[in-house]
Amino acid sequence: VPQLPEPLERLVQELSRLPGIGPKTAQRLAFHLLRVDRARAAALATAIEDVKARIGYCERCYNIAEGPLCSICSSPRRDPSVLCVVESAFDVLAIERAAEFSGLYFVLHGVISPIDGIGPEQIHVQQLLDRVRDEGIGEVIVATDADIEGEATALYLQRALSPLGATVTRPAHGLPVGGDLEYADELTLARAMAGRRTF
Ligand SMILES: [Zn+2]
Repeated sequence: VPQLPEPLERLVQELSRLPGIGPKTAQRLAFHLLRVDRARAAALATAIEDVKARIGYCERCYNIAEGPLCSICSSPRRDPSVLCVVESAFDVLAIERAAEFSGLYFVLHGVISPIDGIGPEQIHVQQLLDRVRDEGIGEVIVATDADIEGEATALYLQRALSPLGATVTRPAHGLPVGGDLEYADELTLARAMAGRRTF
C-alpha cells in the first residue's frame, strides 16, 4: 500500500469515519479537498467548527437548537397540548417537511433495544414522562419507526404514559414496515400523522 503524506492520510482517516463513506470515497474526497482553493477548504472547516460550537440540543424537547430552546418550542403558533415523540432530530425535520403537524416534539435520541443494551434509562424516557405529567399533555403521538425496536419502544411508552392521563396514539400504518420514518415521502407522512389512532 503506497504511503500518503501524514496530513493527507489523517484527512482520509477522518473522512472515512463518516457514515456511508468507504475508504475509496474518503480518498477521493481528500484528493478533491487537496485540489480546491484554500478559501473553499477553510469554509468547510469553519462550517464544521461553527456547528459544533453553536448548535446544541433544546433543553425542552432535545431537538437541535441554537440556544436553549429550538425554533419549534420557541414558536407561539404551536399547540402545546399535543406532543410527537420521535427517535432522532432528523425525524423532526421529516415530519416538519410534511407540514401536517402543529404540536410540539420530544426527541428520544434512540430506541429501546435490549440486544444493544439500551433500556429506557439510556434514552430520554424519564424526561418524557416528567414532561407529560408536569405539563398535562393531552395527546402523545409515538412516531418511532415501524421496525422491531420502534414498535417495542412505542408499546413501552404507551404503557408508561397511559396512567398519566394522556391519550397515546401511533401514526397510521402506511409507513413501510421496517422502514425508517426519515425516508417516508411527505404525503405518506402527512397521511400517517392525520390518520393516527390509539393503541
Ligand atoms: Zn425544543
